[in-house]
Amino acid sequence: MSMSQWPALRGVAATTAVATLLWCGVAGAQTVITAPANRYSAAEDVQIGRQAAAQVAQQLPILEDREVTSPIGSIGRRLVDAIPPEFRHAEFRYSFDVINVREINAFALPGGPMYINRGMIQAARNEGEVASVMAHELSHVALRHGSAQATKATKYEIGALAGAVIGAIIGGRVGGAVSQGTQFGLGTAFLRFSREYERQADLLGSHIMAQAGYDPRDMASMFRTIEKAGGPSGPAWLSDHPNPGDRAAAITREAHSLQVQNRVDDRGAFADVQARLRRMAPAPTTKEATRVVPAGDSPSTPAARPGTGGVEAPSPDYTTYTEGNVFRVSVPSNWRELPGTHAVIFAPDGAYGSANGQGVFTHGMEIGLVGTETPNIRTATDDLIGSLAASNPSLSRPSRYDTMTLAGRQGLHTVLSNASDATGREERIEVFTALVGDGGLFYALGVAPRDRFSAYQSTFRRVVGSIQLK
Ligand SMILES: [Zn+2]
Repeated sequence: MSMSQWPALRGVAATTAVATLLWCGVAGAQTVITAPANRYSAAEDVQIGRQAAAQVAQQLPILEDREVTSPIGSIGRRLVDAIPPEFRHAEFRYSFDVINVREINAFALPGGPMYINRGMIQAARNEGEVASVMAHELSHVALRHGSAQATKATKYEIGALAGAVIGAIIGGRVGGAVSQGTQFGLGTAFLRFSREYERQADLLGSHIMAQAGYDPRDMASMFRTIEKAGGPSGPAWLSDHPNPGDRAAAITREAHSLQVQNRVDDRGAFADVQARLRRMAPAPTTKEATRVVPAGDSPSTPAARPGTGGVEAPSPDYTTYTEGNVFRVSVPSNWRELPGTHAVIFAPDGAYGSANGQGVFTHGMEIGLVGTETPNIRTATDDLIGSLAASNPSLSRPSRYDTMTLAGRQGLHTVLSNASDATGREERIEVFTALVGDGGLFYALGVAPRDRFSAYQSTFRRVVGSIQLK
């Protein structure tokens, strides 16, 4: 079956807290910035960013050259130290990687991981210009714009958010299963910020610049540099960070109210970085770079058609996994843990991969948690199955539910049939659900080909019996 890609069904209450941005312009004083409303926690930002960062490391070429990465990291740390106290989050871990691709772009993930394209560093006219892009990205992170935008626009699970983030970054074929989140319009919601957020990131970025010892007017000049250097389709960075209007003038105006503290002493370190990059082989495009990434063992990586070769029967030995602070589960020890974008999948070799551009698995279990608006488990389970059907068009609908116990809670159980995307053969999907906490539906899906299903059912029962919710 196709891996889950449903929008979460979480309560609508939170969405009424529409982000309100306040700028209290006071003549002669720097603009006061208020972070927008956010229904996610800072820890959830970290979790989203961590998941997406793992995908970045797997799919994009991180430049490992200390003569480049060390000075860039120093600029980053200098900027981090200049974040105003009200926008610091103890959980956040800022990091600065250089991606060896030529597009003029940079992006930062919720919770702190930042990536600067080599093309961006080579395009900058001086250290202040590259610092300004980093300060702008840092501001999006510190103001938690990614999850704030998701708060405003949608009702998605954090797993879906991570998928959408990376889908938006990588996109297309290489994004594979993870880019599926974008079909709900989420990818753009995440990385392509609203003009309001852009204005905020420009302003806070300029404050951080000044506090870190850079001239905030370098930000205005960097925007002009980026504009001029754009290729035929325009600079990637500007399409992700749309101009809120009069951008350069607004920054220059703000700069009048800012005092540059402990001005950075330019000893030529940045010029050395650029010289070093010029001596390297030219950077590939993102498309070229991602094409040569070898296939890994993640479900998001295109692989051989799953389920067509031999798949080992479930081992009688079990391995226990702890999934975040959500649950523990024991699965056959020859099943791999495939942390997905929406849930965790446990499957044996040969039983997962991609087909028709979607992540699929043919044998194993998917376990996850979605939000739900309803306190009625039957309705919530119907909604879950309805969402599954969106990416599995031949999925049957439940004719009945049985009650069962899942992690000590009263749960529901049913068996569905489906035609596998990978093999075209008929498969069975065993669904287990239970309501948890306030507004959550915990679920486990057991998947096996129809002719193997009865042999797998006892395994599914044993796995489900082992689940402990935290
Ligand atoms: Zn931006």
